[in-house]
Amino acid sequence: MAGRIPRTFIDDLITRVDIVDLIDNYVSLRKSGRNYTALCPFHNEKTPSFTVSSDKQFYYCFGCGAHGTAITFLMNYAHLNFPSHQNPHIRCQRQT
Ligand SMILES: [Zn+2]
Repeated sequence: MAGRIPRTFIDDLITRVDIVDLIDNYVSLRKSGRNYTALCPFHNEKTPSFTVSSDKQFYYCFGCGAHGTAITFLMNYAHLNFPSHQNPHIRCQRQT
């Protein structure tokens, strides 16, 4: 099934990928000073509190506290689309 991502692959990816380019594929970033801002993909909001730092290759959300590197973003973003994550049946089974 889903295998582990090799550590070397991750290191390689981090050194090659610009976090701004990567995240810009998923959410529309706007340049704001030295950083980029966007509406956070991890919680609902109307004003952008999701910040991406090109210098630090790091993202941070002032609204929900989500933060991490390019890899963290990819993994967290993938979880958003994970079907069992929000499956109500799982909750029902636990209420016994
Ligand atoms: Zn957020």
